[in-house]
Amino acid sequence: MDRGWGFLIGLLGAVWLLSSGHGEQQPPETAAQRCFCQVSGYLDDCTCDVETIDRFNNYRLFPRLQKLLESDYFRYYKVNLKRPCPFWNDISQCGRRDCAVKPCQSDEVPDGIKSASYKYSEEANNLIEECEQAERLGAVDESLSEETQKAVLQWTKHDDSSDNFCEADDIQSPDAEYVDLLLNPERYTGYKGPDAWKIWNVIYEENCFKPQTIKRPLNPLASGQGKLLPNTFYSWLEGLCVEKRAFYRLISGLHASINVHLSARYLLQETWLEKKWGHNITEFQQRFDGILTEGEGPRRLKNLYFLYLIELRALSKVLPFFERPDFQLFTGNKIQDEENKMLLLEILHEIKSFPLHFDENSFFAGDKKEAHKLKEDFRLHFRNISRIMDCVGCFKCRLWGKLQTQGLGTALKILFSEKLIANMPESGPSYEFHLTRQEIVSLFNAFGRISTSVKELENFRNLLQSIH
Ligand code: FAD
Repeated sequence: MDRGWGFLIGLLGAVWLLSSGHGEQQPPETAAQRCFCQVSGYLDDCTCDVETIDRFNNYRLFPRLQKLLESDYFRYYKVNLKRPCPFWNDISQCGRRDCAVKPCQSDEVPDGIKSASYKYSEEANNLIEECEQAERLGAVDESLSEETQKAVLQWTKHDDSSDNFCEADDIQSPDAEYVDLLLNPERYTGYKGPDAWKIWNVIYEENCFKPQTIKRPLNPLASGQGKLLPNTFYSWLEGLCVEKRAFYRLISGLHASINVHLSARYLLQETWLEKKWGHNITEFQQRFDGILTEGEGPRRLKNLYFLYLIELRALSKVLPFFERPDFQLFTGNKIQDEENKMLLLEILHEIKSFPLHFDENSFFAGDKKEAHKLKEDFRLHFRNISRIMDCVGCFKCRLWGKLQTQGLGTALKILFSEKLIANMPESGPSYEFHLTRQEIVSLFNAFGRISTSVKELENFRNLLQSIH
């Protein structure tokens, strides 16, 4: 079995032990304790605990990551928000102004990015352009160099997506547009109620490897429409193999992260002159308070840390890809591109130094065939989730939902490509493993979102402490 897979199993097993309520807790008292007292201590039997993650993220990683994500390379993301929903027709488009996404005018995006839309270095660009030309012709053009022909075949194979955990947008489509992520931040949009629940439920219910008879507890307001005892759901989950639980925990972590953001950048006040955005403590408590959520809130926050660790791990594994001398964060501005690459490598080295020591192999159990089947299931379920994002009725939520699922899909692809990354040549084109610009931008921005959530948890903890 792949080491990445073993890692996932190990990580989950450890996190699961904690979240399933093992160990006695004192009854929580203050508002801060009710959200956070069960979200502390060790997340595994090695050296990784919530406090270490908080310190590492909030003080060492977060500021540098924010700086990187403000650069031209990372702020422009090409996305097709007009793809039809493949699952149902009745999408009610949310007409709220805060759901709108403002795409870039073509002169706003640096030429280097536009001309190299999913490429990562000048040399690679030239090569891929030749390849694309050949692909458009429908076959491997024999007049191309041997090296290029080989690349065409390899990249076509890659694009057949047998490796991909996410269904990528066709960024060559006329409907795909660049969006400036800094001008369209993820925040409260007012997208809620049955339409939003339907999306979350489809993601959990239909893609969670689970038998039809088990229902995840729905929103309390929807009681009578499938609300079953939470205990039924969790005991079912505990009976599952770790990989399937990992799938649930990743989605739940993503869900928690989105809900932390909308609580942290909530529309607090609106006048005809301006809008005031900030922390809404009540909104946060309704989603994460242990008592108000009957114990679910702290579990959700732990899932967020789980997601953080998975993406962190993927970033530490992919360092050799970015260290290659011919890799560039290509925008056409040579000096800025070099500075950004230095910052990116600094961040990745910092991540590598995180004291997260897993004996990945010791967690591995199960035969190879079964492991392969599970990996395939995992990939297909995850791809379905990326397609569901086209059914989200709020464009802003759709944009960030797509970006974050693509980012997580890329992280999983990295974790399952460990051997390919290890075998990459130190320079020249890498045929077995490569990441497109879209994958790179989504990977770092998705991690930036989770990193921001972890930082926001500290802000909420302080705010909750200050009100008592
Ligand atoms: P929901 O968050 O809709 O959750 C439904 C039910 O799921 C809850 O009652 C609970 O039983 C369960 N649940 C909740 N959280 C978790 C968790 N972490 N793990 C497991 N189960 C859980 N709104 C914005 O304002 N801004 C956005 O950018 C935004 N992006 C979105 C992106 C997507 C893809 C989707 C589907 C929704 C998005 N939303 C966004 C909407 C937001 O996530 C909520 O759906 C909405 O605020 C309504 O919240 P709710 O309290 O009714 O419960």
